Amino acid sequence: AAKESREPFRRYVPELDDRAGEEAQLGAELRTALDAGQFRLVYQPIVELPHGRIYDVETLVRWEHPDRGTVGPAEFIPAAERNGLIVELGAWILREACRQGARWVAELGRDAPERITVNASARQLAQRGFAAVVGAALRESGLSATRLTVEVTETAVFEGGQAIATLHELRALGVRIALDDFGTGHSSLGLLQTVPVDVLKVDKSFVDNITMAGRHAVIATALIQVADGLGLTAVAEGVETSEQAAELQRLGYRFAQGYHFGRPVARPDFRAGAPGDRDR
Ligand code: C2E
Ligand code: CA
Ligand code: CA
Ligand code: CA
Repeated sequence: AAKESREPFRRYVPELDDRAGEEAQLGAELRTALDAGQFRLVYQPIVELPHGRIYDVETLVRWEHPDRGTVGPAEFIPAAERNGLIVELGAWILREACRQGARWVAELGRDAPERITVNASARQLAQRGFAAVVGAALRESGLSATRLTVEVTETAVFEGGQAIATLHELRALGVRIALDDFGTGHSSLGLLQTVPVDVLKVDKSFVDNITMAGRHAVIATALIQVADGLGLTAVAEGVETSEQAAELQRLGYRFAQGYHFGRPVARPDFRAGAPGDRDR
């Protein structure tokens, strides 16, 4: 009967109907994938300039699809946010990342990354129990709260309300907050007055043309000044060349992330970037 009642709709707006169907199917597939253990995590180095020692790693999720191979998060995170599965998937990501972080600390000692960063979506921040989920992941893994950074987007915190309350709760645990893709939102600078934040991730778009003469480096320059002035840590994202790295260092950036330093992988080479290695 449900199928019949959808028939007229299908005739008038076929695209909409197809999309709704695809969305529902993807949502169901994601549910199955989570139960079947098809998600895995990769970690991308965030390095300290100029020597390139890995200071932090950003956790990024991948879907090992039985037929399609590795699927990137851009293809399923938005759907997981819309159908709400991101809450459960995100909790799994947190537990897994904290467990991995604690393992590296135990195994590598002073070669372990100082910190581990995990992305959280708007839907997770809007949850009342999110800080408790983070607290449980820390306790279960034994990872110190001071080693964890939770990365959020400007749009996720723009709504205020529970999202901001959650950030305060996370900070009370001792967790750092990073604002992702900083500078691309509607009210980037305004947010800094109201949102508790420790790290600004300066968006790749401000890094891309930084070595070209003229206006291109102006915003990257302004953003490091804002970060310094407010006592925040700035991380330049999407660094792809040694020229960009050198220019960022010249502008005063101490932390950077991008393919130039390392792609997201299951296990970064923590010793490769140790002080001195890069200079030889
Ligand atoms: P993001 O948080 O801004 O993550 C950075 C993205 O840029 C990653 O793509 C990373 O692989 C890519 N990237 C890093 N360095 C470079 C570079 O030098 N050049 C270029 N062109 N790209 C670079 P990825 O892994 O495909 O993730 C895409 C987005 O999916 C992330 O953007 C984030 O918004 C979301 N995402 C990924 N993992 C998670 C997660 O565990 N939870 C949530 N909520 N979202 C996630
Ligand atoms: Ca991120
Ligand atoms: Ca980013
Ligand atoms: Ca992004």
